[in-house]
Parts: sequence; structure tokens; C-alpha cells
Amino acid sequence: MPRPEAAEIISPVRPPPQQRPGFPKTVARVCLYTLAGYVQEVRGVELGGVRIVYVGHATFQITTPGGKNIIIDPWLQENPACPEEFKDVQDVDFLLITHGHFDHLGDAVPLAQRTGATTVSNFEIYSYITGKGVENAVPVQKGGTADLGDFKVTAVNAFHSSSIAGEDGSIIYGGEPLGYVLEFESGFKLYHAGDTGIFGDMRLIGELYAPDLALLPIGNQVVMSPYEAAHATRLLGVKNVVPMHYGTFPFLPGTPEEYRQAASDISGLNVYVLEPGQGLDPTVKTP
Ligand SMILES: [Zn+2]
Repeated sequence: MPRPEAAEIISPVRPPPQQRPGFPKTVARVCLYTLAGYVQEVRGVELGGVRIVYVGHATFQITTPGGKNIIIDPWLQENPACPEEFKDVQDVDFLLITHGHFDHLGDAVPLAQRTGATTVSNFEIYSYITGKGVENAVPVQKGGTADLGDFKVTAVNAFHSSSIAGEDGSIIYGGEPLGYVLEFESGFKLYHAGDTGIFGDMRLIGELYAPDLALLPIGNQVVMSPYEAAHATRLLGVKNVVPMHYGTFPFLPGTPEEYRQAASDISGLNVYVLEPGQGLDPTVKTP
């Protein structure tokens, strides 16, 4: 995993005027994008010491307050959205797999074998990866919470499919797809929805776990459309969203702008549009 300093960090709130000239252009652009839509309501998400970097597609690198590294859906080498400097991970402690498709299971097996990372998945993928030689694997199923010491992870529903492509072109049953709610020692809660359409029980996820920040697919056609993702935001009651899983392939045509427009009635919503390699600054506090 690249050192945290290697990731380009954007502030979810506008930096003080005296700091603006020193910020890279992309930082200013993203900040302005956010401010343009929500100028009256901008409030930074308090990340509780958690560093979150978007690697592209549905892949995120997360560093806990205690310095442990997590990758959710580690699709790196073949991920066309993944910056080169993020492809060769040397240091990762946890891998979280939402489902078995290539763009999510990705590099999990070789990465887990090389690093010894604790790998979390549903039971079917657990069986698959342990059969491939992954030794440190943890099965979870919907409704259950695994306490991994540095954070807790709860498996929640996702509406999608979850097969694994065999090397001979066969389809291996991959169990049911998952979303994850991560709770860190600081109390900060992060929801990665995995690949999913909207479902009414997202309201339950909001009621039970009240995530501070949600990573929501918006790509349309094979996951939620921006229209559905906007209503998912309402059901979850979440006020901070990073759109993901869009634009990587022609069949993911949804855009952050469509999502932002569809969600424009949601009071106090912050939408953080991250380019691959950009992250959210954990040091910024809610103003
Ligand atoms: Zn996907």
C-alpha cells in the first residue's frame, strides 16, 4: 500500500484562504465542485482519524486511527481506473470482499498470500480463497459483526449476483453479495454498499448503524442508477457520500453530476467526488 502521504488528499471543507494557493489544482476543483452544489450547507464529515483513499471503481484503501491498512474490493492490477502507484501493495492488514465478481475479488488471493492480510468475505468466497491457499480468512454473513480488533465489520444486504469466474470459463457459485458497515475505535462508521440496486431495508441500515459516510455505486445498468442512489441516500439518512463504481466500463454510464442533481433536495448532503488516487482528509473536523 502506498504511504498515506502518497495519496492526494482533499479536504471536505473549504481550506482557509491563505492555504488555497498551495493546494494542487485538482484539490481546488473538487472542493469547488462540492461547494458549488452545497454552498449553504457544507459541513465536513468528521472522519474520526480514518483515512479514506479512492483507488478507482469500487476499490478503497482505508487506514484506521491505529495505522492498520484495509483494502475493500482489492481490484488493482487489471483495474483501468487504478493509478500505477497503487497497483503494487506491499503492506495491507485486512481485505474486505463484497462479492465474487472479478472487479471486486480482484487481486485478493495473491495479495492475501503475499501479505498474510486477514481476508473477510461471505462463506462461499471464504471456502474458495482458503482452497486457493489463503490462510488468514474470516467468514461473515448478513446480520453478523466480526470484531477484528482494530475495527468491527458488519455484513449487510446487497442486491446483485456474486459468481466467481473459473479459469476454464466456468461459473463458480459465490454465495450472496454483501455490503459492509465498518465501525472504527473512534466511533466513525463507514458504509460500503458493494454492488447493489436500491432496497427498502437500506432504511434499516440507517436505523441500526447510522453511517457517517457512505460509498455508493452510481454506475447504472449493472448497479444502482444515480436516481436510485439518491433515494438510497434518503433511506440511509446519510449526509456524506462518495459516489463509486461508475465510468470504468461503457456499461456504467451513471455520473456524479446525475447523482448530485437527483439528490439535490437532500438537506445537508455533502457529495465528495474523488478521482482515483484522491482521498478525504481525516484531520478536518466538522466546522
Ligand atoms: Zn462491480
